[in-house]
Amino acid sequence: MGVLHPVRLKKKVLKRIREHAQSSSGTEVAGLLLGSLRHDTLLVSDVVTGEQKSSPTHVALEDKFLVRVATEYGRRGKRKSIVGWYHSHPDLGCFVSSIDFATQKRFQSLFPDAVGLVIDPSPPEEVSLFRIEENKARNIDDYILT
Ligand SMILES: [Zn+2]
Repeated sequence: MGVLHPVRLKKKVLKRIREHAQSSSGTEVAGLLLGSLRHDTLLVSDVVTGEQKSSPTHVALEDKFLVRVATEYGRRGKRKSIVGWYHSHPDLGCFVSSIDFATQKRFQSLFPDAVGLVIDPSPPEEVSLFRIEENKARNIDDYILT
């Protein structure tokens, strides 16, 4: 894996993820991050969610949703594509479970710069972004909110 690019996250993306996570305080929720590589920076500019199976401690996006978004944003001429995923850990705090690690690995095998975002919406809110580097989950602490 080459050098990974710094991350800028649009405030409206975080707002929509927060609203989604707060709408379901008892179960985990998930979705996809959309954006593009620009000027050597990964810009996360949009968010999309859809069919998922969830419980208080687990969530999985359904294949039909992933395929639909990948098809929609994989078309030529589209300025945005899938650049990662998010999910919530209600009342659990932010950490990377073994399932999260495996999911993140799949995203990075498709797009090395892909990021994972974890949010615990219960106060005090916790948000963390991570990538896998050298087979370890590493927090991205220096992302820019823009
Ligand atoms: Zn998780």
